[in-house]
Order: sequence, then structure tokens, then C-alpha cells
Amino acid sequence: MKLKNKIALITGGARGIGLGFAQAYAREGAKVVIADIDIERATRAAAEIGAAASAVKLDVTDLDAIDRVVAQVDSDFGGIDILVNNAAIFDMAPITDITEASYDRVFAINLKGPLFMMRAVANVMIARGRGGKIINMASQAGRRGEALVTLYCASKAAMISATQSAALALVKHGINVNAIAPGVVDGEHWDIVDAHFARWEGLKPGEKKAAVAKSVPIGRFAQPQDIAGLAVFLASSDSDYILAQTYNVDGGNWMS
Ligand code: NAD
Repeated sequence: MKLKNKIALITGGARGIGLGFAQAYAREGAKVVIADIDIERATRAAAEIGAAASAVKLDVTDLDAIDRVVAQVDSDFGGIDILVNNAAIFDMAPITDITEASYDRVFAINLKGPLFMMRAVANVMIARGRGGKIINMASQAGRRGEALVTLYCASKAAMISATQSAALALVKHGINVNAIAPGVVDGEHWDIVDAHFARWEGLKPGEKKAAVAKSVPIGRFAQPQDIAGLAVFLASSDSDYILAQTYNVDGGNWMS
């Protein structure tokens, strides 16, 4: 019970990695609020977790909604101890084919939303005076570019930088900010990626995913629970001396 009675707010927790974190945090004793644009799925996910979880509708591109939801959670639960900035979208196009519309959408969800989530949550953490933990979801895609993934890679690189700046500003308030950079994690996201590659590289469905799995030194995709252990550690007092870091959880991908 490393997170007993802590209040955790997880964006994009209705499925995938965020859902894996919500389940793990609840097992460790936290009360979890899943904030997702897909409220039906978030509500189902919270119900499956049980009494420790609840759901709230949030589009992270709506800055007023961010402030409203954060204030509501803070007042309903008596504070927010943990924020996981997890909601993001994938986008695929080489530099020659990016559009202003996809730039605006990717950066609104993957960077602007998380920055203003940090602003809102950090301010309520400071007001409560009991510190806190902020975990940003970066990616191996933020460590190195990929020819067909221009905007997503750039948005995740920006998250690594934003994590460092926020961590240095908030350390004096007892708030630790860190990031996690997964490699490839199985889930619906990867079905979309596979379809994109099929379109761009003329592959058959499933071909890209199989090739990627083979290329990971550990020999498989991660499952959300492979990432959740680090997310629990970074949310717990075990990581009190750690800040401004981005940790790879990638089955050795970074080395290959
Ligand atoms: P996913 O696509 O399965 O889930 C994303 C969730 O975010 C969904 O529940 C969706 O409804 C929600 N969401 C989308 N737009 C939103 C918005 N505007 N406001 C609020 N919620 C919104 O994603 P995933 O694969 O579980 O990835 C989770 C995080 O991990 C993301 O930040 C992603 O970039 C990162 N990541 C994923 C992988 C991977 O291989 N899956 C690898 C590295 C990093």
C-alpha cells in the first residue's frame, strides 16, 4: 500500500497505459480519478476498478475545463497528491506532409493540455502545502526522431523539456516532477500505428507490429503493467529525492 489515501488524477485513463496506472494506483491504496474525453469508457473503467475510482469528462485542449475539473477534484477529495499527464494522440506524417491542422491538434493535446494540467494541479498542490508528484508521459519518440512521425516526436521531446523546467520550479514546494518514456506498449494505440504504417509503407495489417516486436531486444511489446511499477514508484515517497528525470521503460529499445 505505497499510495494509501493519496488522491491521483490521471488524464486519458479510460484505456491503455493510463488505465493500467489507474488499476495499479488503486491496488496501492490511492483514490483515483480518471479524466478522459471518452466519459462512457472512463466510467466503465472506474466501475471495474471499484469504489477507489471515479471518472470525470475532460478534454485537455479546453483550458477552462482543466481549471474547473482540477478545482472540483481538489474540493471533492480534499486535495490532489498525484497527477499523471497521460492523454495524448498519435500522428503520422513526414515533414513534407505535415499540416497546420494536425500540428494544432497534436500540440494542443500532447503539449498544451499537459502544461496547463501541470499549472492547475501544481497551484492546488502549493495551496494545500503538502507537496505532490507529477508524472508526464513522454516516449522514446521524444528521444529520437522517426522519419514518418514528425509532430508526435516533437511533442514528446517538448514534454521531456517541460518536465525539467516544471521540476526545477516546483521542487521548493515539495512537488516532484518526472517523466516516463515507454518504448512500444501494446493496445489500441498500436492498432492505429500499424494501420498508419500499412498506408505509408504498403504493408499488410499486423506486419509493422510484428516487425517492431521482433526488433525490441526483450522480444515483445510492453503491456501497461510493465510500465505501471515505475509509475507507482514515481508517485510514492520512495522517489522523494528524484526530480526532472525521464525514465526509459522500453525493453532495451533505446540500445538497439
Ligand atoms: P491510448 O491512445 O490507448 O489512450 C489515450 C487515452 O487518452 C484514451 O482514453 C483517450 O480517450 C484519451 N484522450 C485522447 N484525447 C484526449 C483529450 N483531448 N482529452 C482527454 N483525454 C483524451 O494511449 P496509450 O497507448 O495508452 O498511451 C498513453 C500515453 O503513453 C500517451 O501519452 C502516449 O503518447 C504514451 N506512449 C505510448 C506508447 C505506446 O506504444 N502505446 C509508447 C510511448 C509513449
